Amino acid sequence: MSTLRFKAVEEASKRTPIEVTPPTQLPSEYYGKYVFNRTQMSKYLSKETMNIVLEAIDRGTTLHRGIADHVAAGMKMWAMEMGATHYTHWFQPLTEGTAEKHDSFIDYINGPDGGIIERFSGKLLAQQEPDASSFPSGGIRNTFEARGYTAWDPSSPAFIIDDTLCIPTVFISYTGEALDYKTPLLKSLSAVDKAAVEVCKLFHPDVKKVYSYLGWEQEYFLVDQALYAARPDLSLTERTLMGHESAKNQQLEDHYFGAIPPRVAAFMREVELEAYKYGIPLKTRHNEVAPNQFELAPIYGETNLAVDQNLLVMTLMHRIAAKHHFKLLLHEKPFAGVNGSGKHNNWSLGTDTGIGLFTPGKTANENLLFVTFLVNTLMAVYKHNGLLKASIMSASNAHRLGANEAPPAIISIFLGTEISSVLDKLEQSSEDDDITVDELKQMKLGIAHIPEVLIDNTDRNRTSPFAFTGNRFEYRAVGSLANCSSAMTALNAVMAAQLIDFKKEIDVKMKKGMKKEQAIFDTLRLYIKESKPIRFNGNNYSDEWKEEAKKRGLDCETSVPVIFDRYTSKESVEMFESIGVLNEKELHARNEVKWETYTKKIQIEARVLGDLCMNHIIPVATEYQSMLLDNIYKMHAVFDKEKANRLSKEDAALIEAIADHISAIKTNVDDMVEARKAANKLEDAREKAVAYHDKVEVYFNVIRYHVDKLELIVDNQMWTLPKYRELLFIS
Ligand code: ADP
Ligand code: MG
Repeated sequence: MSTLRFKAVEEASKRTPIEVTPPTQLPSEYYGKYVFNRTQMSKYLSKETMNIVLEAIDRGTTLHRGIADHVAAGMKMWAMEMGATHYTHWFQPLTEGTAEKHDSFIDYINGPDGGIIERFSGKLLAQQEPDASSFPSGGIRNTFEARGYTAWDPSSPAFIIDDTLCIPTVFISYTGEALDYKTPLLKSLSAVDKAAVEVCKLFHPDVKKVYSYLGWEQEYFLVDQALYAARPDLSLTERTLMGHESAKNQQLEDHYFGAIPPRVAAFMREVELEAYKYGIPLKTRHNEVAPNQFELAPIYGETNLAVDQNLLVMTLMHRIAAKHHFKLLLHEKPFAGVNGSGKHNNWSLGTDTGIGLFTPGKTANENLLFVTFLVNTLMAVYKHNGLLKASIMSASNAHRLGANEAPPAIISIFLGTEISSVLDKLEQSSEDDDITVDELKQMKLGIAHIPEVLIDNTDRNRTSPFAFTGNRFEYRAVGSLANCSSAMTALNAVMAAQLIDFKKEIDVKMKKGMKKEQAIFDTLRLYIKESKPIRFNGNNYSDEWKEEAKKRGLDCETSVPVIFDRYTSKESVEMFESIGVLNEKELHARNEVKWETYTKKIQIEARVLGDLCMNHIIPVATEYQSMLLDNIYKMHAVFDKEKANRLSKEDAALIEAIADHISAIKTNVDDMVEARKAANKLEDAREKAVAYHDKVEVYFNVIRYHVDKLELIVDNQMWTLPKYRELLFIS
């Protein structure tokens, strides 16, 4: 009998919520307590230093060493008062998650005999050289034997975790190539800022800066620690590679927005309390669609900071889950048959003067600005839909995309009927219309009347991967495990490139003597026509859409390793290089990393699947089979042949069924191992990843099918792996 499984079930069922004592103060009083934010800066830095730092943050100017020394001194004083003894550069290598290497503040005063002192200089703040040679670089560092170094990002404030001061940094090679997610993100934010400001100036000459905003929604699963530990597949791959569906799943939709289970509520409370201390404004929490699936979301903020906060929240969630005897699953598809987890990226642009560029206004001029940004988004996403898909693709997110519960593997934009009809009207307005911004013409173009009703009125289309939701776009295809930087870099980059093109067209037209409004309308009209294939308000899950999308020329590729090619296409390289976000060498190197990561993930899954089949499934099935055989023998010992045959008919059928499934499992596992061996011989990273996709991963579902059938046949008492009903319904 399987004791581990039943012990785990027993342990999990007996648990009670862990008490969380909230601070006696109000959240506003301890909010940001662990962060070296503007309030702390004003206490620990001179006014002069503080102003220079704020200028650097707001205007993107560089800080010289002298200033870094001042900041380091203030930061050290604050950190030590908070109990910190160590510091680390906190960076985002091309693996998911973050990396850190702690150093203590201690240093000799004057050589080894002079005693020690706590030291933290501007040099240590500004730049470090972690010997992080094991992080993937796609060959950049091997080829050039250049080491990687980390450099301070003053636009994301330092914070303290336990006894360590964490300083957000970029991670680059000495030859200057980005080795992380943050570097290209910052470059894309600066590119979209510049490009958008130029366009805004057509309307509002006083606009000096445009911010990119991100509001992420993090979905996740919680599983009891004991049950998790009894599932080697969960422990090693973060997803179940087998497991028959539970009789009750999410059919009744009784989990979505339902009462939060007490143990989970305690976990959520603690995550919120901790997040507040890190200045992360968590706002919503609720049950998601699948059993044991939940979501949390903060109030949106500037994109770079929001990305860092998401990474930090994921770290906090892992730690706090452990304290509550849960295991946090951020994998996009930990369980078959129920919804997977995404991380919707709500994205918008806004000016330093307070205008939301995706927010419909009250006047025609405001709405022209709104429509300008909206239509340019359509064009940007249309031109680069393949690239945007590549930016959210991964071995794990592939399970979610294209399954009938999440965005499809085709990027399209949902605008809703109202905005669609505004664009239709604009498109149909005649070229000869003398477009002056007067009341009547506004009515005619239908753009004076977008506002007010809209925000609550945008019909929702949950099947769309990229939906306009009233004052922002919601990029829903992003995976729950992902670093949002990847999607945000691509999106802000394509938008920047598009806005530059737009501004050029306007300039050319105005030089030819066209009036500004006329030039804008003229260009938008062309864009609306050209970008039409990207607009889709229908059901993205339907097969008709797949057909239709192909006809429209949208990117319909579904193979993960092949989708990565979109990064190195001529158009993508030109686009990224033209705005200085990533160069061709970096793009190629990053794809190498993506292919390697993909291969490794599938390789690990294949190994775990093979091991589980051979060491758990087949032995248990064989044992049960021999019990049945034993039973038949005994029947024959007791009854005459005819009667014994009749009475053991069912057992005999089961024995055969088990034998068939075992044989199918064995054959497929053997074939999978052979396919793996063949793939491993391939040298080229792309070829290998493609082989893992086309030749290895294809066995997973076949094998799983037979294992899941056995789970239904074999005596429950003997089955060693916690079942779906236990993993999903105990909390
Ligand atoms: P829903 O699940 O209905 O999409 P949520 O409230 O869970 O909504 O999440 C919406 C997210 O969008 C929040 O993080 C919110 O702060 C963010 N958001 C709202 N307005 C904007 C905006 N203009 N730009 C970016 N994000 C926004
Ligand atoms: Mg949402």
